[in-house]
Amino acid sequence: MFTLLTFWKCFLYFLKNQFTIKMRNLDQITCPICNEKFMESEYLSEVFKDDTKTKFISNLVTHYRHSHISYWNKCWGRNGDRYRGHWFKDYDIEKAKVNNRAKRQIIRKAGTVLKTMGIGPRHFKRLQETDVKTMDLALKVLGQD
Ligand SMILES: [Zn+2]
Repeated sequence: MFTLLTFWKCFLYFLKNQFTIKMRNLDQITCPICNEKFMESEYLSEVFKDDTKTKFISNLVTHYRHSHISYWNKCWGRNGDRYRGHWFKDYDIEKAKVNNRAKRQIIRKAGTVLKTMGIGPRHFKRLQETDVKTMDLALKVLGQD
């Protein structure tokens, strides 16, 4: 039976959902290299909620890994398991390597855009497992910040 209590429960549920949707107001990001538009990841928007610049790069690294590095994509396709087996010794090590490669390519290809946005080496340093080679390039291309 549909009672007043049920009504209020539904109403509160509705309000809660509205609020949650508002809380997760995700931004759309445009890749400065291929101009593809994509929504930022909910996870990264939580991790870097107080740092929009680092959030931007971290989303870009994820996008770059999946859309611009073709061998990474092959690993998650239909024959992914078999393909991964050839070179994946350790997923985390491999992912860190691919991420650093992505970061360096982003710096090389979109350095000017990043500089305009006020993104510098310190933002790359805040990302997980940024290596020395990537930091050196960030300093060289983006300058000391
Ligand atoms: Zn892109």
